[in-house]
Amino acid sequence: MSEGAIIDGNDVLIVVDVQNDFCPGGALAVPRGDEIVPIVNRLAARFHNVVLTQDWHPPGHFSFASTHPGRNAFETVAAPYGPQVLWPNHCVQGTPGAAFHSALDIPHAALVLRKGMERAIDSYSAFYENDRTTPTGLSGYFAAFHGCFWPASPSTFVSATRRRTHGVKALPFSSSRTPAAAST
Ligand SMILES: [Zn+2]
Repeated sequence: MSEGAIIDGNDVLIVVDVQNDFCPGGALAVPRGDEIVPIVNRLAARFHNVVLTQDWHPPGHFSFASTHPGRNAFETVAAPYGPQVLWPNHCVQGTPGAAFHSALDIPHAALVLRKGMERAIDSYSAFYENDRTTPTGLSGYFAAFHGCFWPASPSTFVSATRRRTHGVKALPFSSSRTPAAAST
């Protein structure tokens, strides 16, 4: 987005998973991931509406390699919803790694949405778990507070977002993971 982009009160910025475990020194670090934090802060200051998402896994989550004896991180296993990459343990509920980066400064964020809480399903999207049918609840928030009727399918949402028909902008963060966390 250019500095000159027009942002109005109907626009919402979704900040995805700016957490310690995805920053250098974290369990699943994105190289130089911490460098995005001041940019996110500056961008968020321009939005009246900001939503933060937080990867928030229970111990023993299906996406953890440690949950699958004999398997290693970054291998792929079959899940009912398709291939699942195995990750190091990360963003375990209540741990320092699951906390937002300490420099993230968005006090006016209206909603912190935790995802990946279902033990058997991973969650990259802010809107749907990886089975592409289980909602995270974010669409309900938009319906209640912003009057948006959200498309039923993630793929429809992607096209809607790109057309900005709902005035939502997604800010990618964990872009080294596939599928990109903020692409849906
Ligand atoms: Zn995760």
